Amino acid sequence: MARILMHHVYKRYGKEKQIAVKDFHLEIRDKEFLVFVGPSGCGKSTTLRMIAGLEDITEGEIYIGDTLVNDLPPKDRDIAMVFQNYALYPNMSVYENIAFGLRLRKMPKHEIDLAVKRAARVLEIENYLTRKPKELSGGQRQRVALGRAIVRNPQVFLMDEPLSNLDAKLRVQMRAEIIRLHKQLGVTMVYVTHDQIEAMTMGDRIVVMRDGIIQQVDTPEMIYTQPANTFVASFIGSPPMNFISGRLHEGHGGTIAFHTSRFALEIPDGKKHQLITHKLIGKVVTLGIRPENVSLDEIVFQAFPRAVIPGVHNISELMGADRFVHLDIGQERMLIVRANPRYHFAEEAKVSVAADMSKALFFHADTGERITD
Ligand code: ADP
Repeated sequence: MARILMHHVYKRYGKEKQIAVKDFHLEIRDKEFLVFVGPSGCGKSTTLRMIAGLEDITEGEIYIGDTLVNDLPPKDRDIAMVFQNYALYPNMSVYENIAFGLRLRKMPKHEIDLAVKRAARVLEIENYLTRKPKELSGGQRQRVALGRAIVRNPQVFLMDEPLSNLDAKLRVQMRAEIIRLHKQLGVTMVYVTHDQIEAMTMGDRIVVMRDGIIQQVDTPEMIYTQPANTFVASFIGSPPMNFISGRLHEGHGGTIAFHTSRFALEIPDGKKHQLITHKLIGKVVTLGIRPENVSLDEIVFQAFPRAVIPGVHNISELMGADRFVHLDIGQERMLIVRANPRYHFAEEAKVSVAADMSKALFFHADTGERITD
């Protein structure tokens, strides 16, 4: 069993006791692929390094399986780590690089041979075993680094931005390989990245962090559709979720609408009741809507006349399959629409969009916490 339990873990650095990780409390399940994601400096690596034993824990407890590991040295934790800078020994062959750690542990030669060959087969580097690292591509070198971790047959893999030195195409390929490897090995993996796409595509669950504090722990689907707050909503998703500031007002026949100085949007019943329950009628709130949930299609805004946002075309970015259309809607930020590339607009053209209000989310204006689902 390679469950990892982090019990109210804190990390403070230096004389000033600067807080790097605050009250990190989480169970990482056996065989789970868990991703820590967040902007640079939010405490992802520090948390991973505490699990590895490379960093002292200031406060709290960490269990791997049933063992309290707070004071256990890294080598006794049954973990393997893969870093961004996977230093391979330049003068050793691929085979020797993979075997090195096992030789240090005085594993019998024939067992080492079996382990290296098994790892090489899994990673499809069997044909390169006699080569030196400089004779390999970046992706092949990263596979050798993974091989060094695999042969140790650990219960837990810890990976700290292992793909960030690779070019974009290789990253996509290695991403798929690590997902496959996780399934094949049946181990617990904890993976650190600042890249929200890696987090979304690789994780069974994602931990979004900010300033040393967990913001949300959930599946990629839930993180995307039900973000805990505006920080998570804007960090996950590209282009990010649009935020619009406005006030809630009651209209005729018990309807509730979201008003800005330029337009009003009627709120569907389910969300309306949640906003009433939170006593937010008359108050300023933040509406969040993803770029794919606003439509430029005339048929849509004829069907939903009370969900139309008038705007002025600012810029458009053609991405191939999509065009990102930026509209000035009278707020600090542009509203971004993920549109079909067939839409072309002149500079300063008047462009209206219809918001799919069933997909809109409302957040508290001050704390950024999500109110509606
Ligand atoms: P991330 O991996 O999310 O980029 P880190 O875990 O590396 O973030 O860092 C979290 C915070 O802890 C940052 O503010 C960083 O400056 C600080 N920090 C990290 N390592 C040290 C250290 N050895 N000494 C002092 N502060 C550190």
